[in-house]
This record gives sequence, C-alpha cells and structure tokens, in this order.
Amino acid sequence: MLVGHDARTSGPMFAKAVIAGLTATGCNVFFAGMASTPALQYAVKNHCMGGGVIITASHNPPEYNGIKVIWNDGIEISHEQETEIENIYFEDKPVFAEWDKLGAKQELAVVNNEYVEAVKKHVNISEIAEKNYHVVVDAANSVGGLATPQLLRELGCKVTTINANIDGTFPGRMPEPRPENLQEMAATVKAVGADLGVAFDGDADRSIFVGENGEIYWGDKTFAVVEKQFLIENPNAKIVTPVSSSTLVKDVAEAYKGEIVWTKVGSVTVSQTMKKVKAMLGGEENGGVFYGTHQAVRDGAMTTALILSIMAKTGEKLSELISEQPQYFIEKGKVECSEDKKEKVHRKLLEQVKGANISTIDGVKIWFEDKSAILVRPSGTEPTYRLYAEAKSQEKALKLIKDYSITLKQILATI
Ligand code: MG
Repeated sequence: MLVGHDARTSGPMFAKAVIAGLTATGCNVFFAGMASTPALQYAVKNHCMGGGVIITASHNPPEYNGIKVIWNDGIEISHEQETEIENIYFEDKPVFAEWDKLGAKQELAVVNNEYVEAVKKHVNISEIAEKNYHVVVDAANSVGGLATPQLLRELGCKVTTINANIDGTFPGRMPEPRPENLQEMAATVKAVGADLGVAFDGDADRSIFVGENGEIYWGDKTFAVVEKQFLIENPNAKIVTPVSSSTLVKDVAEAYKGEIVWTKVGSVTVSQTMKKVKAMLGGEENGGVFYGTHQAVRDGAMTTALILSIMAKTGEKLSELISEQPQYFIEKGKVECSEDKKEKVHRKLLEQVKGANISTIDGVKIWFEDKSAILVRPSGTEPTYRLYAEAKSQEKALKLIKDYSITLKQILATI
C-alpha cells in the first residue's frame, strides 16, 4: 500500500496512524510523504501497489482532514467499498496479523519526479517550449507547489508562483479554487504580463485557470477547450461528464462529433464510468479534467500541460480559445427540503415535467428548446434541493431559478 498526505498540519500525524493500522494487518507500506492526490494515484498504478491511502481534505478549510482510499488501478474506491471499510472499523473487526507477519514500512521518495515525467509524455514539449510562456501558479500553500512549477519549467515556461510555500494553515487563501479566492492570482497574471494562471485546490486534483486578460474561467469553459481539441484528434470519442455540467460541453460534443455519457455528480463516478465505457476524457464544472491516456482521475498538473499544449498548437491565447465557444449565463439557487420529503418531491416534479427533454440520472435535469437548462437536485449533505440554471441571457437563467423554486415550494406545500 502507498501512503501520502497533503500539506495540512495533521497530515503527518494521520499518516503515522494509517501506516500503523496497515502494517498491523500485515500490509507492506511505502510512504511517499507529501504529494498531490493525482501524483499518488499515478504512483499506485505505476508501482503496481495493492492500493493507496491519501490523507487529504481536498478543497476544505485547513482544520479538516480526511482519508481517500485508492484501488490498485489508481482510482478512488466506490462509496459501497468505503462503507465496507467503515463497517469493519465501527464493528471493531479488523483482522490483525501475528507478530511474525506484521508489515514493513519503507520510504518511496520518487513519486513527484516520476509524476512530472509521466505528464510530460502526453504533450509536445518542444512545441510548448518554443512559445516561452509565462505561467503564474497559485499553489494554495499546499502540494500544488510540488510538481507543477517543476513540470512547467521542464516544458520551457517561465514560472511565477504565489502561495507556493508549504504551510498547512493555508495563510494565502482558502484551498477551494473559487473565484472569490483567486483575485490575487488574477491580479498577479495581469501585473506580471503572464500568458496563463492556474490555481489548485488543497490536493491539486482540481485546477482553475486565468487567461492573460486576468479573467477567471470556471471549469466548464476550460474543459470545453480540452474537449474540442480532444475530439478534433479523436472523432466519435466518448466524453464523460456529470449532469451538472454546462450545455457548453454538449454543444462542443455535437459540433465535433463526440458522444456525451452523462453521470451522477461526483468525481469517483466520472472515473469509474470512464473505465466502464472505455472513455478517454472526462470533466467536471468545478475544475476537474480526467485525461484517460494518462490516468482516469482529476489531475491538475496534467490539465495545465494540456491547456498549454492547446495554446501552443493553435497559437491562440486562452481568452481567444474561450471566446470562440458558445456563451451561457449560469445561476444557482436552493430550496429547503427535509430528508424525508426529498423522494416525494422528486416524484411529483417528474410528473409535472413529463414530455420534456429530461434526464433523471441525478435529480431532474431539463433541457429546453432555446438552449436553456435547469438541474433540480437534492443535496447529498444538506436538507436542501439545489438548482443550477443556465441560459443564453442572465434574465432567463434567473427566471428559471425563480420559476422552479416556486414549483418546488408548491410541491412541498402539498406533501
Ligand atoms: Mg481535491
């Protein structure tokens, strides 16, 4: 088993506990120290490990931490498998090894370097290097600062880093790469005249980009840039994406002869669907790009290399690549709904929208003739229904949120 952690202050402590647990059951453990989630996932597969454990709370605030378990294919285990592990823990039934069968522990210090080499294999290095790009990396004071600046320098880029000192209190910004946390990066890109900015979450699987104009682009838009180039090179390919993704992703698939495979919301579902349907590209609106040729998981450094590779190949700036795409306005909303009413609300809502162009993979998604769409979905963690609308005008997107909030409230009043 491979074990590693992100920059959180509790990372080394939890890593020691996990290693003690694993060796107590007879597993041999390789300890990678600090590394990003995608670097550890790659190493699990590359070193033919039985699996891996990553200590990280991803995009959550610094006081949180968590345990991600990786299967031997480098993909996170399913929620069902997580429940199996939790049952063993809570029922106090782990099977411990005898004293002469305890596992051993050794260091594996090559994870970050091997990961950089692996990413480089998937892009044309000289084509990127010729352009002398200047890239700003906002590492969130965590593991995003380990591999990506090195990778970019090896791709011939000039690199300016911010929040790149490792500090588990995350003094620079909150680790979720949301626009309100990325103003400093956007300003830095403009101030130093960089060609591109990239910001990661706490474990560097998600990446959000800033164009040379200082504009922050949400994940749908950069995913669509990658999707278009991928479909030009791989016509008829399957593209895996959750139903919460923008219609933009569907538009690009239709324009460049791709086939969309919709999934439930969640990165593990995207990875596992890619594996099941043999798709080589997946993407999420929150900044997750899954490049199956490298590995079918979200990977911030790989996505950065792909964006640079597309900029170099087309000779276009990121702002140009994005302005060529269909434009949508996105609005979000929520309506309170207790857990026991969620299922009934779902059924009533389905009755009301019968005949429309819908998907019920996760909540209810409705696509309208005028290219607008709405997703009405029960939150998995809160007593609410979440609404995601998009349309060709902001007024229409806001109207969809308003109309469907009223519909939900009317349904709730009858049950
Ligand atoms: Mg993450």
